[in-house]
This record gives sequence, structure tokens and C-alpha cells, in this order.
Amino acid sequence: MKHQLVFATNNLHKLEEVQSKVGDSFTIISLAEIGCQEDIAETGLTLEENASIKSQFVFQNYHTDCFADDTGLEIEALNNEPGVFSARYAGSRDFEKNIDLVLEKLSGLENRNARFRTVVSLILDGKEHHFEGIVNGKIRNERSGIEGFGYDPIFEPIGYHITFAEMDLSEKNKISHRGLAVAKLIEFLKSI
Ligand code: IMP
Repeated sequence: MKHQLVFATNNLHKLEEVQSKVGDSFTIISLAEIGCQEDIAETGLTLEENASIKSQFVFQNYHTDCFADDTGLEIEALNNEPGVFSARYAGSRDFEKNIDLVLEKLSGLENRNARFRTVVSLILDGKEHHFEGIVNGKIRNERSGIEGFGYDPIFEPIGYHITFAEMDLSEKNKISHRGLAVAKLIEFLKSI
């Protein structure tokens, strides 16, 4: 029988990324599929705390094995902002406004180094485990590409001349922060 795991998100992009990464070995269930429409408040001050808040919420309320992720875009010249505030950097969950604010703050700055960092919190049999994935890159001066979500149109991963928004899903998944964190999660699940 396929193992089922609840992924504490209703973000369809993330669900698609993770389901394609885990392949046939696991079925990923969304919050909506377990009847949870809650927008779990991310009140932590770190990615680790926020990932944990989300996975613990699901575990406490639905008593099921589950995992959650939290991601931040960390920009060197901005003291690692927006970081844990990436989702609402410009005040709301509006990707376009958040990108505009990043471009405005970086305007005229030479140092465009940035990284995406994801922390995954897995709760299995009541025990919590964390996995981290990082991808380094640069912030472009302007948007390019229409794939993906969030800051993808302005993030160029190191070793590439295209942004995440110009990559297809499988390419992004091989090198991305979430792809790497989920790969560690899968390795762990397979080892037990
Ligand atoms: P979350 O809290 O894990 O949902 O991530 C916070 C914010 O980071 C999201 O609202 C997006 O703006 C951004 N983000 C997360 N993952 C990605 C990604 O893979 N590409 C681009 N932006 C992302």
C-alpha cells in the first residue's frame, strides 16, 4: 500500500512540486483534502519555528503523520531580508508587490547575491524531524519567465542563465531549496 502523508499546505504549486518529486512511493494529501481550510498563522521568527507551527497544528488537530515547509528568500545586501517575512514582504501575499519591493530595495546595488532556504518539519509517529535545502543565486534587475510562483521570475540560480520562472518543474525540482529539502525527507522515509 502507498504511504500517505499530509503536506500542511494548500499552495497548489508546492503540492505539484512535491508530488512530482516523491513519485509513486507516497501520496501527498493537502490540507483541503483533510478538511482543513485554516490559514495557519506563521507567527515564528525563524523558518524552523514556522515549519514546526504548521506541522504541529496538523498533528495536534488531525492526529496524522504530516510535514510542513517554510521558505525564505535571503538577500545578502538586505541583511538576509525578506527571509521569514518573504510571504508578506510588502504587506500582503501579493507576489507582484513583493517582487517590486525587492527590486526597489536593490536598485543601484551591485551585490545581487541571494539564496532560497527551505526548512521542512516532518512529524512521524509523533516525533519531529527537520530537513533543510538551500539554493544560491542572484536577483535579476527585472522579471523573466512565467512558470512557478513567488519570487521565481527574479531569481537566477547559480550556474544558470535563466530564472526559476523560465525552468520547467522537473528542472527546478532538481536544484531548488524545496526540492533539496524534500529529497532529504524522502531519503529519511526510505531509510526507516
Ligand atoms: P512559504 O512560507 O514557505 O509559503 O514561503 C514564503 C514565501 O516565499 C512565499 O509566499 C513565496 O513568496 C516565497 N517562496 C516560497 N517558495 C518559493 C519558490 O519556490 N519560488 C519563489 N518564491 C518562493
